[in-house]
Amino acid sequence: MKHYPVYLSVQGQHIALSGGADAALAKLRLLMKTEAQITVFAPEAAAEIRDWATQGKLTWVPRALEDGDLGKEVLFYAADEDEAEDARTAAIARKAGVLANIVDNLQDSQFITPAIVDRDPVTVAIGTEGAAPVLARAIKAELEERLSPNLGMLARIGKTFRKTVEVLPFGRARRDFWSDYYFNLGPRIETQGESAAQRALNELLVDHVNISDAPGHVSFVGAGPGDPELLTLKARKALDKADVVIYDRLVAPEILELARREAVLIDAGKTPYGQHTPQDHINALMVEHAHDGHQVVRLKSGDPTVFGRLDEEMDALDAAEVTYTIVPGITAASASVAAIGQSLTKRGRNSGVRFLTGHDVEGFADHDWRTLASPGEVAAIYMGKKAAHFIQGRLLMHGADPATPVTVIENASRADQHLITTTLATMAHDLSEADLSGPALTLIGLNPRAEALAHAEGQAKAAH
Ligand code: SAH
Repeated sequence: MKHYPVYLSVQGQHIALSGGADAALAKLRLLMKTEAQITVFAPEAAAEIRDWATQGKLTWVPRALEDGDLGKEVLFYAADEDEAEDARTAAIARKAGVLANIVDNLQDSQFITPAIVDRDPVTVAIGTEGAAPVLARAIKAELEERLSPNLGMLARIGKTFRKTVEVLPFGRARRDFWSDYYFNLGPRIETQGESAAQRALNELLVDHVNISDAPGHVSFVGAGPGDPELLTLKARKALDKADVVIYDRLVAPEILELARREAVLIDAGKTPYGQHTPQDHINALMVEHAHDGHQVVRLKSGDPTVFGRLDEEMDALDAAEVTYTIVPGITAASASVAAIGQSLTKRGRNSGVRFLTGHDVEGFADHDWRTLASPGEVAAIYMGKKAAHFIQGRLLMHGADPATPVTVIENASRADQHLITTTLATMAHDLSEADLSGPALTLIGLNPRAEALAHAEGQAKAAH
């Protein structure tokens, strides 16, 4: 680093410039934004400079800079666009002990002015030590676009609020408040003017005081089947507030992105060694964070109450006297029937529906196969990929029609959703052929609506 970036205090200080044409104007436009007292030395000056002088915004000395003119200045700009004249004036400044910049002459300048993105009091200075002015301009353009024009207003209001925010405990609580202000609340209210911003800031502070007083708590939140738009508003709010998010393997990354930037995300699906996190460890994590006063979101795919080992986790929280709430989510069965245009229940077909698991702690799960084998029965089988052959065998053994429709929905509601339309006779074969890698739900007794209708029509024709 040949140049060291600093912010120089110029309020009430003197800055001088020699030159009255384009280069001088370019420097002055920026200098006029400061609270410095500016003096311009130029026998002839552009109209703008003369206007500024008339309005008292700067002092114009209508002659060339002379020895002895400088001394009290903090900075001097040689902006006559004439090599010899610039060298002369810069020498005067240096002799007087004033830092000099020669426009477009990096070599002989003692300081340079960076490209600036101005959201006063927030300013971003970009410098490339003359190496790549084009790059500096490109970075500036990008930041200009990214930073809202009202950021300065937000920062000014924020500054007046710093003392008030001391009601929040030092550290994390205060940091959270400010980041909530600048990144969540700010962008929403910035166009509503200063007084609205003041009011919103007050309300935000009340919210944060409440949060910081609140004891730790766990929300069991259903993340739904994958499509972030299938999250509930409550789930979103819980993610917005969470200090810690402990999530399962099947939770889609797009949903995790909705968590606060400051939230600690803990993958409970895998340990760094690729193993499943033991249930005891997950329980201990929730308790530990809740006891630390954190708002913990235990994020589970689908609905937390469906094949989610929720009760074991609630037991652990009860034992540790940690409070919790359950935020339901859309379960895979709901997303799957939606994907194929069917209802889970239908008058005259099935007056009930079963949610089954393909396997439990003891291996392939046993069920009431006789009832399930009856015509019209509908069952949603979770974790059923490996058990397909077993399920098929049991149902056929108990007299189910081999032509019973079966649909397997992989990645329901996600961009890579995939359907396998089959029958009880061929389901195990078709599933193993398909070699699915994503989560899949097996619907016994249902085919996609269009196919089901075509099939019914065919049957009707055959009967005539
Ligand atoms: N609580 C979850 C289920 C967890 S068990 C829920 O309510 O959906 C995990 C099983 O859910 C997977 O093996 C798969 O059968 C099913 N599943 C979860 N997400 C799914 C998805 N997007 N598409 C299809 N099946 C899914």
